Amino acid sequence: MKTLTIGKILHDYQNYLTEYEINELRIVQKEKTDFSTQVKALQLALFAEEWDFMTREISDSGNPMSQEYTDRVNKKREAFGVSPIDDAGFATDKTSNLFCEEVVRQTKNYKEILEHKRKKTKQIVFVDMDNVLVNFQSGIDKISDEDKVKYRGDLDEVPGIFSLMEPYEGAIEGYIWLAKNFDTYILSTAPWDNPSAWTDKLLWVKKHLPEVAYKRLILSHNKHLAHGDFLIDDRTANGAGEFSGKHIHFKEKGKGFEDWKTVIAYMKKLA
Ligand SMILES: [Mg+2]
Repeated sequence: MKTLTIGKILHDYQNYLTEYEINELRIVQKEKTDFSTQVKALQLALFAEEWDFMTREISDSGNPMSQEYTDRVNKKREAFGVSPIDDAGFATDKTSNLFCEEVVRQTKNYKEILEHKRKKTKQIVFVDMDNVLVNFQSGIDKISDEDKVKYRGDLDEVPGIFSLMEPYEGAIEGYIWLAKNFDTYILSTAPWDNPSAWTDKLLWVKKHLPEVAYKRLILSHNKHLAHGDFLIDDRTANGAGEFSGKHIHFKEKGKGFEDWKTVIAYMKKLA
């Protein structure tokens, strides 16, 4: 999915937009409402077709049921990397909503971000440990063959395994950069049936990120309860999938965050 600002859409994508959409976009651009209000307003301005089938009057773009109309809106949607509407005029998934969230985030004109600037505070980022900060495989590689057999299928329960793990490639540099530019915390889950993991995770942080992550380690099976702006996590388990801010799905195919380099490049635009 493309990441654009409202300004860039108005500048580079006018050919895809009606006069109505352009005017509505300009109105949203000036708004300083909170994040979710701005996302809704943007979605209404840019993708009014998703409501046209109900009102038939919101936009000036013609009869919502005509082929010409459908072709035009789908051409626009394609240009933004958003899924087309179906023959009945319905949005088929949440891509338009996700696109608008990203545009508002990149435009940086919403209430919460302006408040941060005014108060000189930073957005909150949570970073997962296993397979994000920590190379889980490097721990497995160091355990005995005996333990590999004994704990097959539950390798995270091998006593002491977390103390053996090396940092993930680019993770230390990435975390240090994040800690300078965001209010950054580690948010990890330690296995319930492996008590030494709870200690080992603390010791790992003390060893590899002693200053930047000092007293910033949160161990939880309920990541959705952590209130913040970003969560960098390779999984949706333990509440990560229900996180209220943006879930940066590390290493997930097609999400565009395949390594620390791409994560930091993205975060640089939002710092
Ligand atoms: Mg993980």
